[in-house]
Amino acid sequence: MSDRPTRFRRARVGASLMLSRMCRAPILAGLVSAAALLAGSSVAAGVVVTTQDERGRTITIDAPSRATPVGQYFRLLRNSVHGDEIESVTLRIVQQSAVARLCRSQRARACYRGGENATIIVGEGDPAEDAQTILHEYGHHVDATIRHRRGAELNGTPRWWGTRAMGLRKARGQVSSTYALGWTRSIGEIFAEDYAQMHIRGPYGIRWLPRPDESVFRAIRLDVTGRATGPPPRAARAELRRSGTWRNAAPRGIRRAR
Ligand SMILES: [Zn+2]
Repeated sequence: MSDRPTRFRRARVGASLMLSRMCRAPILAGLVSAAALLAGSSVAAGVVVTTQDERGRTITIDAPSRATPVGQYFRLLRNSVHGDEIESVTLRIVQQSAVARLCRSQRARACYRGGENATIIVGEGDPAEDAQTILHEYGHHVDATIRHRRGAELNGTPRWWGTRAMGLRKARGQVSSTYALGWTRSIGEIFAEDYAQMHIRGPYGIRWLPRPDESVFRAIRLDVTGRATGPPPRAARAELRRSGTWRNAAPRGIRRAR
């Protein structure tokens, strides 16, 4: 496509990243998720455990205790569409009570911090319920790691940018590299939503834009893995209420943010 970028590069770990505040607002009923630019953590790290994907890349989880069932989180990341960038992020599971402070948002269920010590923070809960949220945050990590020259970061991945006609949309004022037009018009959030949809066809937070189709997924897969084809990611178990609302509410005992 004419909009397709011609040059891109994979950012080195630790390269300076222009990350804006990112919040996944409660745009869906019952969905309270956020990504925020994290401040320095003041909560002591927990138990750091690692595993490897099928190519021997290290996947790291920082769990609050040895009793945390990290296996499901590992499977979620291992089965995601990913590349080498998976080694440069830590999935940090914290107590629910710490999420709002660490993510600097009362509505946050999870958040992402890029840079030298890239981290996804998520509250301890049901990994299946949080799967789409975690994948959304991992989408931010993919975006921050795979850099290209179309638009300012965060700008998704190059073929995704072309397939979604982001250059044209930006020129028309439909989307922004910042949050000036709102969360749903933020290019970084649109990419993160598309990335998550590639794995779980749950609620899609960008209502003004058609849901991503296979061409969008193929573009992302090619950008991330270098392969356009191959088996689709094994979908994490999605739980849908009868109403169709993505079940992503806070666990019992935790007041759901509005
Ligand atoms: Zn986000």
